[in-house]
Amino acid sequence: MTDTQAVQDSTEATPPTPKVPWWKQEIKISEKRSFSKFTRWLLIITLPFILLNLFSVKPLWEVGWRTRLYCLSNLFPVRSASGAKFAAGAWMPSKRIVVYGAPGVKDDAIAEAHEGMRKITEEIGLDVTVERTSPSPEALASLQAATSETSFDFDTFMKRRLDDRGSQYAEMVVVNRPFTDPDWAWGLAYFPPGLAVLQEGKTDINLGRHEGAHLLGYDKHDDELPWIIFGYQEALIPGDRDTLMMLLPKSRNTLSPRAHDAIVNFWRGAERDGRRYFK
Ligand SMILES: [Zn+2]
Repeated sequence: MTDTQAVQDSTEATPPTPKVPWWKQEIKISEKRSFSKFTRWLLIITLPFILLNLFSVKPLWEVGWRTRLYCLSNLFPVRSASGAKFAAGAWMPSKRIVVYGAPGVKDDAIAEAHEGMRKITEEIGLDVTVERTSPSPEALASLQAATSETSFDFDTFMKRRLDDRGSQYAEMVVVNRPFTDPDWAWGLAYFPPGLAVLQEGKTDINLGRHEGAHLLGYDKHDDELPWIIFGYQEALIPGDRDTLMMLLPKSRNTLSPRAHDAIVNFWRGAERDGRRYFK
């Protein structure tokens, strides 16, 4: 055997297959697996929305609130008890929110709700009047219809109130029963019909501000999606945040910049028709 042959032999010989540990082995996906055209298009269209709901950046968040992309629930029309249809937020041009309590509710609780609503409106800079009133005879009848021995039904009250007051104003009402659904909530607020209801005994100024922010259109909580909005300094883990708009109240009650900018831009977006909502 010559030297050249020896070299050839050694290169041609099959090297022993190195044993690849399982964690380094390549994962092979069957080539047969492919998306149908419909699924592919559906993914292409919905993926940006899904991603925008997980992560965002400050400028997109602001534009998303002006264009209502981030608050689609604020576009749903509402129906009254008689079936009449009201456009979402039809009360906005009235620039008026009235605050009152159900019979038997203590004056202090109504005063706190009123102060909370007034304060949040001021924090946003809105030119909206927050006025404390006594319930009208129609409101009293609707309160009675929605109140049972043990609970208060938000939906029944809302539908009746739409028939009574239409979109002349929005309202914040303090009642003295837990809600029929969900029974754990301290307050409920819904922007489209312009209604917030607070439970006496749970009320303080900050509950008024919290539900007030929902009433003004912030249909989210700071510990919900988007998980992170780049451009705001906030805890990476949503549950670690401690702001006014957490689902469950925590120690601090500062209106977060993300919630503030959302509401401001939501109302700025409503100014496109020429109306003015800011002081
Ligand atoms: Zn809330």
